[in-house]
Amino acid sequence: MDEISADFNFLFNNLNKISYILKDSTHFGSVNKKMADFCALDVSELEDKSISVILDQEKIPAVKKFNQEIFQKGLRKNVEMEIEINNEQKIVKVDTIPHYNSESEVDYLLCLAEDITAEIEKERKFYRNKKRYSSIFKKAPLAFVVSDRETNIIDWNDKAEEIFGWKKEEVINKNFNIIVEEDSYFEITELVEAVFEGKESYNINKNVAKDGSKLFCEWNTALIKDRNNKIVEIISIAQDITEKIDTKKRIESQKEELKYSELRTQFFANISHELKTPLNLIFSSLQLLEYKLKNTLSADQNQFNKYLASIRNNGFRLLRLVNNLIDITKIDVNTFQLHRGNFDIIRLVEAVADSTKDYLKTKNRNFRFESEVDSQIIACDPFNIERVILNLISNAVKFTAAGDEILLRIVKKEDNIIISLRDTGIGIKKKNQNIIFEQFRQVDQNFNKKREGSGIGLSLVKSIVEMHGGQITLDSIYGIYSRFNVNLPIVKLGEADVESENYSADSLLNKVELEFSDLNHI
Ligand code: ADP
Repeated sequence: MDEISADFNFLFNNLNKISYILKDSTHFGSVNKKMADFCALDVSELEDKSISVILDQEKIPAVKKFNQEIFQKGLRKNVEMEIEINNEQKIVKVDTIPHYNSESEVDYLLCLAEDITAEIEKERKFYRNKKRYSSIFKKAPLAFVVSDRETNIIDWNDKAEEIFGWKKEEVINKNFNIIVEEDSYFEITELVEAVFEGKESYNINKNVAKDGSKLFCEWNTALIKDRNNKIVEIISIAQDITEKIDTKKRIESQKEELKYSELRTQFFANISHELKTPLNLIFSSLQLLEYKLKNTLSADQNQFNKYLASIRNNGFRLLRLVNNLIDITKIDVNTFQLHRGNFDIIRLVEAVADSTKDYLKTKNRNFRFESEVDSQIIACDPFNIERVILNLISNAVKFTAAGDEILLRIVKKEDNIIISLRDTGIGIKKKNQNIIFEQFRQVDQNFNKKREGSGIGLSLVKSIVEMHGGQITLDSIYGIYSRFNVNLPIVKLGEADVESENYSADSLLNKVELEFSDLNHI
């Protein structure tokens, strides 16, 4: 102890640590300036004095025992202790190093101490906060996943359980990858590295729940470090944004679909113009030719008439196809409009029946029209109702043979008018009874080869009936009969809603010719 050299003193006083020597278990030897400053005393007030100068009486026995043990066993030891300096509680970490003399006895202890009050306080505050926030953590509306440096999960809250489907006990100590889609593992590793470097903390990830369902989550990641800047925990906060992303995708595809339908409608509008212009020219040239021919005496008149009739009929067929195509396209994109008014549905159907009677007679079909009701005003679009009835009659002719019966009948049932068309034709198999109302569907393509048609008629009829608030049904026994029932609700429009007031059956004959143009080949 006495041989402490000048060099040692120099070193000792300039050490950047609180340093002091204990010459026995309760007495200081030399004390450096830092130690004196820490104790808010002069070096002289500490040197060679009892430790009671700075320690409370009740603390002394424990300190004494600790020091004695080092004197006896000669083993270096670290300890953290609390002392009160000027009414302030301080925490110091003391490294106590035994010194051996030439007889290998411990003759004094060198103590190097560090004031860790601030760090300890920080840590305590963190744990206090952690405790305070743990209940919020548990019930938070966002998923919290706490993992260690190796990204093994050490905690997660109720929301995480709800989103990912795993119970907390099931994921503890499992790697974070348990909730990551396999093809995103690489991204996650990169992200964690970026977070470690203090770079990124936000990302959107493809995740997977316990039941294998895929989801998109928005992640925010924060690191919790200890006082030595070592990462202790990684806290990742997630929000399930699958629905948001799905909605976004849906809106995008709807926009795409809308754009496409606009293009389609535009295309059909253009093409209908392109198709109709030459057709109109054909029809007007035809009229002229017919007129001229009437006033000419020609031996070939019959021959000419036959060809002209064929041109006329085929022109109508094309026109009908174009009209129907345009209309189903309009229906598909919701731009088809009815022009409804209050009309007598019985008169309307009767007029259609009258206009087709002669034609059906020439085709040798036994056609009858019956109505239980004399008159019934309902809200309807007369031109489209005509189309519905003509379409059904035209089909009835198409799928019957000479001698078959076709019965058009109207009954009133509660608040509905039921218009039914029954034929004793080939009938429709059960399995086909629904599909014939779909677009472009025809039963048995081969069988129908000799019957012309595009498979649009009934789908258009169904749409028109439904736009009137009605339904179309079918009952049929294959080989025996088919009956189509058009059910229209008895409702009337208020004055403000009427869009069509005038209707006359005058142009019906042309329409019959148009709607029946497919039949002239049968
Ligand atoms: P198409 O223009 O081919 O007649 P529709 O949509 O009007 O198209 O009819 C679809 C299919 O329904 C027809 O091809 C036919 O197979 C069947 N069909 C329609 N009406 C009858 C009927 N009265 N009797 C038997 N089959 C019918």
